[in-house]
Amino acid sequence: MKEIKRLLLKEKAAILSEIQEKTETNGVNKTEIGDAIDSSVEEQERELDLLLQDREQSRLEGIEIALKRIESDDFGYCDECGEEISKKRLLAFPLARTCINCQSNIERSRLAQNAFSRAGYSSQILGEE
Ligand SMILES: [Zn+2]
Repeated sequence: MKEIKRLLLKEKAAILSEIQEKTETNGVNKTEIGDAIDSSVEEQERELDLLLQDREQSRLEGIEIALKRIESDDFGYCDECGEEISKKRLLAFPLARTCINCQSNIERSRLAQNAFSRAGYSSQILGEE
């Protein structure tokens, strides 16, 4: 588990410095370029930044949860069936919360659901016409 913990800590540091870098760049943009930027473009960029930040934030949260789980010896068990997740899988995906079996089940049911909702959607359109 030490290996995985190291992986997670490295990932965490990388995300944190990424966020910091972005914040610093944003600060420079505002002071140096200021009003020269078309405000709508600036708006779009800010939205994109927020979106990226959201994703980084949720990744960071996932890492925090995983680290806490390692500390409390609760790490590496499948959320679905409670079986141990293979170390190989954890090394490839340290944030994996399900074992390979459950993951493929989830993906299969998600695919089925997508197919189902698509079918429902198109029949609805056909019905309206
Ligand atoms: Zn499982």
